[in-house]
Amino acid sequence: MSKKLCKLVSDDILENDIKAYTKLVNEARFVCKKCGRVAKDEDNLCKPKAIKVKKSKKAD
Ligand SMILES: [Zn+2]
Repeated sequence: MSKKLCKLVSDDILENDIKAYTKLVNEARFVCKKCGRVAKDEDNLCKPKAIKVKKSKKAD
């Protein structure tokens, strides 16, 4: 079971393991509708919502 970022932050991950945190948020693809945090993996958010990444639509 993955830990939620919301929980990790309240557990002081930012002070204790900023590297682990940046790994989770790097290339974020989901945003939490509850607390506004972002993560690469939706399992790490309490209310995940996919971020729509605009892809350059040049090729038809
Ligand atoms: Zn959250």
